[in-house]
Amino acid sequence: MIGTNRDVGNARELLLEGFPRIQDSLDDEPAENILRWAFETFDNKVAIASSFGAEDVVLIDISARIKPNVRIFTLDTGRLPHETYQLIDEIKEKYNVAIEVCFPDEQRIRTMVQEHGFNLFYKGVAERRLCCNIRKVEPLQKKLGELGAWVCGLRREQAVTRTGIKTVEIDTSNHGIIKINPLAAWTEKDIWNYIKENEVPYNSLHDKGYPSIGCAPCTRSVRAIEDVRAGRWWWESPELKECGLHKKDQN
Ligand code: SF4
Repeated sequence: MIGTNRDVGNARELLLEGFPRIQDSLDDEPAENILRWAFETFDNKVAIASSFGAEDVVLIDISARIKPNVRIFTLDTGRLPHETYQLIDEIKEKYNVAIEVCFPDEQRIRTMVQEHGFNLFYKGVAERRLCCNIRKVEPLQKKLGELGAWVCGLRREQAVTRTGIKTVEIDTSNHGIIKINPLAAWTEKDIWNYIKENEVPYNSLHDKGYPSIGCAPCTRSVRAIEDVRAGRWWWESPELKECGLHKKDQN
């Protein structure tokens, strides 16, 4: 198990030597086995990144059964919907877990708002990316600097930008940290069956037509015929719809 940053570095080197084999052997494993491997390999240097969407609450439920003191972190952009904050409190209470909350740099927010306005994201992709960068990407990168691996709720069928993801990847856009996607092969139906069968708390916005939930001003409900990410930055074309947390150039 890994305790210090030096241990993380050593373990990472060992891991990278046999990485293709590890990647292949874990790709068809159930989510529970992938998480067990992650906790045994990285101990307290692995954490779940949670925006408290449907996939994230499934990950928390499975993980809490394996490792009750599992590390969970979230990015509080300052623009989240009220329902997400309510869910965070509910999850903390049900699972008796601490949630590590990462905030954006206050000065960076102040400068951005003064220069571009509060709702700059509607002005264009560059402004939207600036906002996502300051409110999400920079706090994420700071948190990932403490870790050897992070766990995400990405699924292949979620978006055109996610069809090629593996259950275990080297995250080249985040200093080569290991990125673990235990739910990569799950369908939306799998997610909701798990939530219902295990009575997992979930964001009440899902019942109001929001399959994917981010910041309040950048998320809307979708119609039945639209894809699950259609309500995120709905004014942009699908291939642009990533906030920088999950880039495509990963192994
Ligand atoms: S999702 Fe919208 S409000 Fe949230 S960080 Fe990105 S641009 Fe800003």
